[in-house]
Amino acid sequence: MSQDWDAGRLNSDLEGVAFDTLAVRAGQHRTPEGEHGDAMFLTSSYVFRTAADAAARFSGEVAGNVYSRYTNPTVRAFEERIAALEGAEQAVATATGMAAILSVVMSLCSAGDHILVSRSVFGSTISLFEKYFKRFGVEVDYVPLAELSGWDAAIKPNTKLLFVESPSNPLAELVDIAALAEIAHAKGALLVVDNCFCTPALQQPLTLGADIVVHSATKFIDGQGRCMGGVVAGRSELMKEIVGFLRTAGPTLSPFNAWIFLKGLETLNLRMRAHCASAQALAEWLEQQDGIEKVHYAGLRSHPQYELAQRQQRGFGAVVSFEVKGGKEGAWRFIDATRLISITANLGDSKTTITHPATTSHGRLAPQEREAAGIRDSLIRIAVGLEDVGDLQADLSRGLAAL
Ligand SMILES: *Cc1c(COP(=O)(O)O)cnc(C)c1O
Repeated sequence: MSQDWDAGRLNSDLEGVAFDTLAVRAGQHRTPEGEHGDAMFLTSSYVFRTAADAAARFSGEVAGNVYSRYTNPTVRAFEERIAALEGAEQAVATATGMAAILSVVMSLCSAGDHILVSRSVFGSTISLFEKYFKRFGVEVDYVPLAELSGWDAAIKPNTKLLFVESPSNPLAELVDIAALAEIAHAKGALLVVDNCFCTPALQQPLTLGADIVVHSATKFIDGQGRCMGGVVAGRSELMKEIVGFLRTAGPTLSPFNAWIFLKGLETLNLRMRAHCASAQALAEWLEQQDGIEKVHYAGLRSHPQYELAQRQQRGFGAVVSFEVKGGKEGAWRFIDATRLISITANLGDSKTTITHPATTSHGRLAPQEREAAGIRDSLIRIAVGLEDVGDLQADLSRGLAAL
């Protein structure tokens, strides 16, 4: 907005403030009406005072809004707030998390380039790389997430991007992001991190050395299961390319959803702390139960990368997975015996969810591929929400009793 109401007061005092303050205050703008909440600009286009003004704005000689596929004030407020929280020079919002990943690859890669992807990424991410990018002559290889030597060995002269999710879903494996960034940079490649599970409240990959962060804002940034969106953040030189692609191709974020996400960000840190505290309590409790063979959660001392998790993350997230006795039948009986928790593969909601990865999110993998990925038939994943932790424990006890 060209004439911010009291712009000096809104923007001058955020230098050096803490995360919680940025989450509430960064990217604030105010119209001459003096509204305290964020204004929602549901408009596709913008008017110009004169023909000369229109020409100047179209040519970019004068900054300002032209069309909401390019810029929208509500979307920009969300982008500015995410950039502040991720420690990025710039961020750009997208229609979904998948549109964020699509935009990164379409902007930075060409036919003949090579991308290395960690094996344990989101299912649609693998489909996007396998079914679509390969069709346009981009080479894709997969590497186990945690082992740095494997990444180093797999990089080729034409490797453009390394793409990871850390922690992984559903087994909560980690990679040392700072060390992987060094490996990538030594060979002229960029590191992209899908930071959806941690959010910037728990992990800031750019400050660890990654080049680009992508998010599905659909998950914890909204946090209440209301709408779809995504975001890409990084340094301006790279973001320029990504913004250019988005403006042309059009998978941009709706201003309505941007407004919801601005509200979501105001409580992000509070919510993540609550998600983490309940997940930690349930993981520790599950580990002691008779019917449970193994619990996967980076906040447990039994987790092989507990030390790295302590160093790299400020919390261990909402996702806990565990293996029950009795294989697939046991897992299904456990899930069906719960009453409060929702049976759904989604995560990042205030409502706790439970799912059987082997027959849902990872159901399309061949049995050997599932075995290699560590997704056993006895594995259950919960994404812990914001309900009372005692009530969640009581519900999981119903599952245990049914084993
Ligand atoms: C959900 C998810 C995505 C895709 O996001 P959408 O908003 O559903 O398009 C990408 N990465 C991770 C880790 C996710 O959980």
